[in-house]
Amino acid sequence: LPLSEAARGAARLRTSSLTEAIRSDAAARRAQEWTPSSWQSKPIKQDVAYPDRAAFERTLAKLESLPMIVHPTEISKLKSSLKDVCEGKAFLLQGGDCAELFDYCTESQIDAKIALLLQMSLVLIHGLRLPVVRIGRIAGQFAKPRSSPTEIVDGREIPSFRGDNINGFDPADRTPEPSRLVQAYFHSSTTLNYIRTQLAAGYADLHHPFNWSLSHVQDSDVKAKYLQTVSALTDSLSFMKTIGADTASALRGVDFYTSHEGLLLEYEQSFTRKWAPTAGINGDEREGWYNTSAHFIWIGDRTRQLDGAHVEYFRGIENPIGIKVGPTFPEEEFGRLLDIVNPRREAGKVTLITRYGCDKIESILPGHIDAVVKTGHPVIWQCDPMHGNTRSSPESGVKTRQYSSIMSEILSALKIHKQKGTWLGGIHLELTGDPVTECVGGSEGLTDKDLSLNYQTYCDPRLNGKQALDVAFTIADYYRQ
Ligand code: PEP
Ligand code: MN
Repeated sequence: LPLSEAARGAARLRTSSLTEAIRSDAAARRAQEWTPSSWQSKPIKQDVAYPDRAAFERTLAKLESLPMIVHPTEISKLKSSLKDVCEGKAFLLQGGDCAELFDYCTESQIDAKIALLLQMSLVLIHGLRLPVVRIGRIAGQFAKPRSSPTEIVDGREIPSFRGDNINGFDPADRTPEPSRLVQAYFHSSTTLNYIRTQLAAGYADLHHPFNWSLSHVQDSDVKAKYLQTVSALTDSLSFMKTIGADTASALRGVDFYTSHEGLLLEYEQSFTRKWAPTAGINGDEREGWYNTSAHFIWIGDRTRQLDGAHVEYFRGIENPIGIKVGPTFPEEEFGRLLDIVNPRREAGKVTLITRYGCDKIESILPGHIDAVVKTGHPVIWQCDPMHGNTRSSPESGVKTRQYSSIMSEILSALKIHKQKGTWLGGIHLELTGDPVTECVGGSEGLTDKDLSLNYQTYCDPRLNGKQALDVAFTIADYYRQ
């Protein structure tokens, strides 16, 4: 039967509103579609305004043409090791500078940091009887978020230092300079290349003379405890050697991964590369977009807004990621945030890096654990005992941290996770292998007066090698009890 004019009209109307609905749905989905640049349509915090925009664009084109720094197969391998951490079968040790400088790219400074992280991991392996996954804040930890965009230097208000890849610490050098991003790439690559050559050459071999000297330890009880651990450790190693368990070759292939805060999204976007595994490499690898500037990147406490640019960028990459969780993190946001960044609920994908301060952790962490457990999302809980415990020294006004506050936050985290039945999967520290005096306390007994002896940091105060080993010994001791 021929349709009446009215019916035809109604059908047309229906079809057109249907097509419209389909169209707007597709548009909504397109709008939600992730691309390496989709973050650009979202509100962004801690953005850097480059005065010379054309030079910035040319720099980004250059970065896009440069080879990847780390390979997706390594990133996938780290993600599967982090799955073990998530399931309580391994522990994550992450550490390095607050702000890495291009000048730290020297053999001796890299050696000192790698040696320290290896030595700490040995103490932890021995104490926990578990494998340790090592990630450095190195080979790219250049960009810094700041609480204020400007600061007063010599009575003048100038832009804050944003990290070596953006501007210079020298007050005359505070204008963002695009070519620093290319320098960041080459310093990252060189640093990682040196780490790889050292590990390949057997630097991690335990027959190397690690410096276990404990002469600095002031307290005789503490010293006795450390000596006990060291002698048990050296005993085990020599036993392994005697029975022919070849520690040298086992450790030659020691895994060491790199990380940094994924802050400057234009830089991160340039190294976001599409990759697909060729058949049969390893079942854990997935086709997708990988951030090849580091194995692991994290979202800082200042850039974790649900609808913000950083969360948008991070949701599309295959890398394992960290999210800093400070005292103001709203409990009700965990579910939505985790759904956004880990929709497949992969174990090992997300590390929540909690940083409350030793006086706040007891009142906040339990609620945060309950909220996350309720979402059913698998996460790694990692304690950053540094960022909630910064204070200024009454002596000189410089930023410092008290070893006892750092240790207290770690011990609270261990206790609370134990009570809740969750696993404290790791620690996140700011440290250096150099003998700096930036944090007070520890077995060497540094005081506020000592800070001026060798205060080097351009951002937050770091544990020196002795203080960092104190942390490792104390955690190992907790597990040996
Ligand atoms: C940092 O890790 O150096 C840092 C800035 O941390 P947060 O984002 O937790 O303040
Ligand atoms: Mn810091």
